[in-house]
Amino acid sequence: MAEGLVKGEGFAIDASIIKADASPARGVPVTEPIDWGRADGQSRAVREYLEALEQANPVAADTFEPASSSAPPKKISLTDPAARWTAAPGGPAFFAYSTNYLIDLQAGIIVDVEATPANRSQEVESTRTMIDRVEHQRGLKPRRLVGDTAYGTAALLGWMVEEKQIEPHVSVWDKTERKDNTFSRSEFIWDEEANEYRFPAGNALRSDWRPLKNPRTHITKANTIVYRSSEKNCNRCSMKNQCCPNMSFRKITRSIHEAARDEARRIAATSEYKQSRRQRKKVEMLFAHLKRILKLDRLRLRSPSGAHDEFLMAATAQNLRRMAKWLTAEGKQANQAAT
Ligand code: SF4
Repeated sequence: MAEGLVKGEGFAIDASIIKADASPARGVPVTEPIDWGRADGQSRAVREYLEALEQANPVAADTFEPASSSAPPKKISLTDPAARWTAAPGGPAFFAYSTNYLIDLQAGIIVDVEATPANRSQEVESTRTMIDRVEHQRGLKPRRLVGDTAYGTAALLGWMVEEKQIEPHVSVWDKTERKDNTFSRSEFIWDEEANEYRFPAGNALRSDWRPLKNPRTHITKANTIVYRSSEKNCNRCSMKNQCCPNMSFRKITRSIHEAARDEARRIAATSEYKQSRRQRKKVEMLFAHLKRILKLDRLRLRSPSGAHDEFLMAATAQNLRRMAKWLTAEGKQANQAAT
């Protein structure tokens, strides 16, 4: 920070999957009962796993995030049970952890590292851990956070915008666009004051059609509110076939973090966002370097704490290398050209 390598203005986040030191042959289906043996004979990896299970606090699923992200894995490793059974596209499945990097965009310095099982919702959740830790330990909170669509879940965008006042330079996770030629959700106009959706020049979709004595929030477990059209209106609507051909009325689901999602959409249309996307390559390049040059494509240590130690040491080595380069005039010029 003193040398100007870390500015704290913009951070980027990403995760990379690294194979665990756990053979696929020692994997058993999660549906099978497992005897972990006596406590005094358990390995550190098994002990850490069982302790974590006791304190487990599963990550809540969110409608506006990939449905598969919180699905249980198919297999569990008897060697390192916290490693996640994961399938790489086009290749055989294996047990793995993810290394999660939070970097400062000025010089690509890694400001925090977190080891998680190779699972998207846990990778995304590590964002909060790292942002809070860097703020607490270093007094740094970025103005903007850059990440790919995986980090565009409603809950995380809500946290960034509403709780942390960080600009999300992240594309919104949204699968509501329809491909069957019927009207998509985005074609309905939101009226904040009236608390309703409306098709242009059409009828309203509301969460409440009658005034209730005790008004309800209508918030679902997935932190959404469902807006419904009136069946009567739809029955006599000339656009019914293009809107809700197989239902008697139309439903639209709105996240309670929709304002944060709108903020991310607004940012995505700016030129600063284009620059952020280019800068995101810095974190991708660090992962490429980690695997190709440092050869960390498979862990030597087991358990979450083993993975944490290896990931932290590797990140430290990468930072030292970056610092050595930056502190030469040549390095400074190269970085200025890249930003
Ligand atoms: S079918 Fe119903 S929801 Fe759809 S545009 Fe017509 S009135 Fe509105």
